[in-house]
Amino acid sequence: MRKHAIVAGNWKMYKTSVEGHDFVEEFVNLMLNIENMEVIFCPPFSALFNIDVVLKETPYKLSAQNCHWEKEGAFTGEVSVSMLKSCGVDYVILGHSERRHVFNETDEWINKKVKAVLNGGLKPILCIGETLDQRKSDETRDVLFYQIKEDLNGVEKLDDVVIAYEPVWAIGTGVTATFEQVSEAHKWVRDILSNLYSQDIANITSILYGGSVKPENAGELFDIKDVNGFLIGGASLEIDPFKEIILTVNEKLKD
Ligand code: PGA
Repeated sequence: MRKHAIVAGNWKMYKTSVEGHDFVEEFVNLMLNIENMEVIFCPPFSALFNIDVVLKETPYKLSAQNCHWEKEGAFTGEVSVSMLKSCGVDYVILGHSERRHVFNETDEWINKKVKAVLNGGLKPILCIGETLDQRKSDETRDVLFYQIKEDLNGVEKLDDVVIAYEPVWAIGTGVTATFEQVSEAHKWVRDILSNLYSQDIANITSILYGGSVKPENAGELFDIKDVNGFLIGGASLEIDPFKEIILTVNEKLKD
């Protein structure tokens, strides 16, 4: 039996503050009986504060989707870790493929953000993953190694770090990586962590899968040994599919 799982819903740039509030309120009112797992809502910045109020006294957690590494300053359009903390945030998604590929975030920036988030007492959900070209040219393992090494450079403990393996070609495309591809990549991530840290640290680090996860494939994906849960985009925007995925994981944890 696995001890712990995480399911996080990354809303990306969807839902206004009121829509987010109402969604989470409806979700909380379902009174799902979940054990041994964490469920995290990741709304856009503008909805955080409103949602924090609904999540108080519930088992659910709140995550931002990005942040800046400086404490404050002349950085128009950016938000700092302490500002996120003031909105009741527990986690911050960092290095999402849309940040890397649409907004050209570098591993150096992501590393600064990871350190700022940890220093500020929050937990990074660090996203890594290869593009289709990199997979086709057999570079996946090297890409994962490079991203983990660079993004966690100078980070000594992984207690508060969650890793999300998200193949870029599977995000928002409806194409899910196969059982074999996910197994292989998650094992690589575990091995890389073992090389860079230790086997013990690698064993207890949560490694999530992300990329077109839906109710129909969540069970099979969660059966993969090194998969500790999911980072979900599209299927987290509506109550039913998100709830179904959570209940699937919850049932599997009892096996
Ligand atoms: P998707 O997105 O589930 O819509 O593929 C996953 C993500 O971007 O984290």
